[in-house]
Amino acid sequence: MTKLWKCQKCGRKFEKKNQMHSCTIYPVEKHFKGKEEMKPLYNKLKEKIKKNVGSFWVESLPCCIHLVTAPAYTFAAVYALRDRIRMHFGLDYKLESSRIDKFSQYSANRYMYSIDIKSEKEIDRELLSWLRQAYNLKHGV
Ligand SMILES: [Zn+2]
Repeated sequence: MTKLWKCQKCGRKFEKKNQMHSCTIYPVEKHFKGKEEMKPLYNKLKEKIKKNVGSFWVESLPCCIHLVTAPAYTFAAVYALRDRIRMHFGLDYKLESSRIDKFSQYSANRYMYSIDIKSEKEIDRELLSWLRQAYNLKHGV
């Protein structure tokens, strides 16, 4: 397994030594300030991903919460909103689904998607399979 470089200042792990990044540490709790009701949904989401997709760790940045897997690949980003959790993830093909709020083509074979999750039942097999594909992309790139 690739040995990761760990930033001594913020503790984030990267594949490349001295990778440029922001060292700002932003606690997860701050993302949920005033949005505490969404915390159980976020926890459920993490639990289901761990169980159905694979292990990962969380990097809480000022912009959003990154879900990262080894070696140091962010396969999804989570945003806490007042009444929902917004999630961004990337796939290598164009996905057609009414559940996707928006997508952008990032590069020739990378599409970024945004999906809103309002309840636990929306963390279903379909969503988890997309996340599994996003998670596994690290092997292909
Ligand atoms: Zn750092």
